[in-house]
Amino acid sequence: MFKQIVKDCLVGFDNMPIDEQQLDRIERFADILLEKNKVMNLTAVREKNEVARRHMADSLFLLKCTDLKGKKILDIGTGPGFPGMPLKLYDPTLDITMLDSTSKRIAFIEESAAQLGVSVKTMAARAEEVAPKMMGKFDIVTSRAVASLDVLTELSMAFVKVGGYFMPMKSCNEASQEELDKAKHAIEFMGGKLIGTKEYSVEEGVMRQVLIIEKVKHSPKGYPRKYAAISKKPL
Ligand code: SAM
Repeated sequence: MFKQIVKDCLVGFDNMPIDEQQLDRIERFADILLEKNKVMNLTAVREKNEVARRHMADSLFLLKCTDLKGKKILDIGTGPGFPGMPLKLYDPTLDITMLDSTSKRIAFIEESAAQLGVSVKTMAARAEEVAPKMMGKFDIVTSRAVASLDVLTELSMAFVKVGGYFMPMKSCNEASQEELDKAKHAIEFMGGKLIGTKEYSVEEGVMRQVLIIEKVKHSPKGYPRKYAAISKKPL
């Protein structure tokens, strides 16, 4: 059932192909996640078929948004590895760094990847603290369920090289349009330009989207600020 759900979701992504080996790796990761979730807070999604949809297929949609091959990719606030891990399990050659401020979640990713025989790059750190050392180092930065778009844009944009893309995964409804309106200044201020959105669904009646924000100029010096300043007065 799990594999069929992932396959059916991918049919909805313009018939995105997936083979048995990829499905095996992704299902094994779901099993490891749900087992560890019994003793550690990793996900609120506790039902395996829901993990198939809301974590695995959802993450894989990023592959439909741009060519990730040969790109340096950063997943900010990856938690237990979303979207980073399903992308790596789909294509282990992808160069993805998974960053999270909670070292236990990063340890979970490393242990799972070792069990699955996939090598991963991880960082246990706060995005705003490591950003000054990693300015413009990534072609693509993504993030899912971490912060409102104005805050997330400040946290993320400095990592993207000029000509690269910030591609946050967000819901797609009236509230998200307001969230986008509120973030317009932050996007421009941090050197970005919204060039499009890609909409999709993995659950009946629930639309989601990936925003495609091109980095058109360098982010200003001194940004991102400390987290207290970002959340107190978002850009
Ligand atoms: N991206 C995953 C997903 O979609 O399932 C996890 C989402 S979880 C709700 C948010 C994660 O962002 C947490 O694991 C948290 O530790 C991390 N996080 C929040 N603020 C962060 C920051 N400033 N730098 C790095 N990680 C952060």
